[in-house]
Amino acid sequence: MNDTVEVLIIGSGPYGLSLASYLSFLGVDYKILGEPMSFWKSRHMRDDMLMRSTFSHTYPANPQGFEILESWLKSNEIDGNGREINTLYPNEFRNFMSDFSRQYDIRSDTRRLARLSCTGQGFDCDLDDGSKMHANNVVVAVGLSGMENHPSWEKKYIDHPGVIHSSRLLDAGDWKGKRILVVGGGQSSAEAIHYLGNADNHIDMLIRKDGILYNSMHVAFSNERKQRLFKIINSFPHSPLEYRRD
Ligand SMILES: Cc1cc2nc3c(=O)[nH]c(=O)nc-3n(C[C@H](O)[C@H](O)[C@H](O)COP(=O)(O)OP(=O)(O)OC[C@H]3O[C@@H](n4cnc5c(N)ncnc54)[C@H](O)[C@@H]3O)c2cc1C
Repeated sequence: MNDTVEVLIIGSGPYGLSLASYLSFLGVDYKILGEPMSFWKSRHMRDDMLMRSTFSHTYPANPQGFEILESWLKSNEIDGNGREINTLYPNEFRNFMSDFSRQYDIRSDTRRLARLSCTGQGFDCDLDDGSKMHANNVVVAVGLSGMENHPSWEKKYIDHPGVIHSSRLLDAGDWKGKRILVVGGGQSSAEAIHYLGNADNHIDMLIRKDGILYNSMHVAFSNERKQRLFKIINSFPHSPLEYRRD
């Protein structure tokens, strides 16, 4: 076996990088695999969307706590009180996470894990370039991107080019002028309608419950927020009035 490491972290998203900050701080021998913040790059996050979490729910756990985001915001002249909504854009979060990684000297190995086997004395790991390594401990930090929740449709419908999951909806232009059915009554479907509603579409929404479950847990009702909500409401004029009010 070429290489042995005490802790192998699989995945360089916020969770893996957060753990790496502690291991680095404690001087534990570790390796972290995967391209840093790849989920937050092209495939799932539009740069014009705001993150859902506020500053205080956004910073990754780390030995310095919230202070690390506070000082980053200050040095990048991002003023929490100056923003109507106290949150970041995904590209800002990615920039924050690269500074975070530099600060804790986290160097992701961009190779991916292809296969993991338990040997009884740790783990044998096959990487995607054909090389091998051994780890005494493994942390799986691969995120939820492989766990899209679809209705129980046949696979041929899910794979159809006319069907897309909200977490992959990045270009409203692809859906311009189309007649669209949005299935689901949660925050993602309300946001999808808001996003697609600017592209000259006819949109219907299918909801099982009495209204939209919009997570307002952490978001103050600023004027900007209200305007955004009104835009969402006006994006589906064909739904019953009580749903729109709700
Ligand atoms: C539209 C949208 C909006 C969101 N808004 C927010 C928000 O405002 N605030 C918030 O906190 N969260 C938000 N989230 C959720 C957020 O994306 C996740 O909670 C977060 O990314 C989870 O971090 P993670 O490190 O667990 O996983 P991920 O960020 O998914 O990272 C996992 C990493 O592991 C890598 N990986 C997978 N398999 C392998 C392998 N075999 N080898 C090596 N690497 C591998 C992946 O490429 C990926 O980079 C949002 C999600 C979506 C889709």
